[in-house]
Amino acid sequence: METILLLAHTETDGTLSKAGRETLAAALALSGDLSGAPVIVGLVSAGDAQAAADSIAGCGAAGFLAVTGPDFETARYATDAAAAEALARAAEATLVLAPATSRWARCLPGVAQRMNGRVDTHATAVTVEAGAPAVTRWYYRQRIEGQSQRVQRPWFILLEPGTTQACECAPGHAVIESVAVDVGDRMRRTSFCGWRAPRTDQQTIRPEAELLLVAGAGWTKKQADGQTHPADAERLILGFLDRTQASLGGSKSLVDLSGEGQAVLPFMTHLNQVGQTGSTPRHPKGLATCCHGEEPHVVGWRFIQQRRAVNLDPSCGWARGKADVLYVADAFAVMEELNKLLAR
Ligand SMILES: Cc1cc2nc3c(=O)[nH]c(=O)nc-3n(C[C@H](O)[C@H](O)[C@H](O)COP(=O)(O)OP(=O)(O)OC[C@H]3O[C@@H](n4cnc5c(N)ncnc54)[C@H](O)[C@@H]3O)c2cc1C
Repeated sequence: METILLLAHTETDGTLSKAGRETLAAALALSGDLSGAPVIVGLVSAGDAQAAADSIAGCGAAGFLAVTGPDFETARYATDAAAAEALARAAEATLVLAPATSRWARCLPGVAQRMNGRVDTHATAVTVEAGAPAVTRWYYRQRIEGQSQRVQRPWFILLEPGTTQACECAPGHAVIESVAVDVGDRMRRTSFCGWRAPRTDQQTIRPEAELLLVAGAGWTKKQADGQTHPADAERLILGFLDRTQASLGGSKSLVDLSGEGQAVLPFMTHLNQVGQTGSTPRHPKGLATCCHGEEPHVVGWRFIQQRRAVNLDPSCGWARGKADVLYVADAFAVMEELNKLLAR
């Protein structure tokens, strides 16, 4: 019989993140498919973890474990790894599911190594095949989907956020069993000293947004009047993002231009790039503008559910082939009009 441990860290306000609830839903579904294999919730928290545990008290977990204390407030390899190991041992877990947050992604491969287990990252589903757990993930920059099973235990699985619906289990009172971790001075050698982040009005990547706006290099190309219009492009794109709170993706051609320091869309960085050598975000809707490339259309928005594109070129094969709707139009004019409508 497998024992499933759901690993999650609480947020700074003591709650459980959406990604944590999604992974909990996956763990519960897996438990059902494994004839009721017990699910144990393991929380890591700077506080007492009670609010997070109470918020999912009705999930049907066989138990709640927690590693708590100020040492676990911020991400740190040594303490996060020690907490995960202690929870996995206390639960006697054979399967450990965790959301693929940067915090868990950094330390769980090391924990798997310490426990002589195995780890799979970037999982998009955990199902049961022939009576045993199986992990689904994408290979070759999201072009090939594969499924694998392992006999080695414990098996750590990092589930990508956005691949399952979050658990809507009833709140209540959860009884938490505390798990001790001996944090020595060596573990504290790395300490958190502060945040350095872009100003929030420059933060254009919003993983939770309803819509992904993809900007292509066409925004920086000479237009019908023989001139480029980067200032208009900036105003239109940022204006649209401001009004819709959409997330901003860019084609490689566009973000490469910005990286060279040319007088083009300075707010685009390589972090915005979608595609084969960029990211493959998961948003319900996508709108590609001034974008022709195969990689942004085929790979970059592979997981976008409704896709539309605006391109001057009616023969743009990738926009035609991969968008549900292609508007053959000038994106400058379309976005100007859209922003006017949104401003109302
Ligand atoms: C190994 C490899 C990996 C790669 N990985 C990636 C990747 O991860 N992501 C990625 O994006 N690319 C990637 N590329 C590059 C990719 O092949 C394309 O070169 C790139 O995506 C093209 O970018 P673009 O569509 O923005 O620019 P362009 O090909 O220059 O297209 C610009 C488009 O804008 C349109 N346009 C111009 N003005 C307007 C207007 N006013 N209104 C509407 N439309 C207008 C034009 O009709 C044209 O279709 C990769 C290439 C290689 C070889």
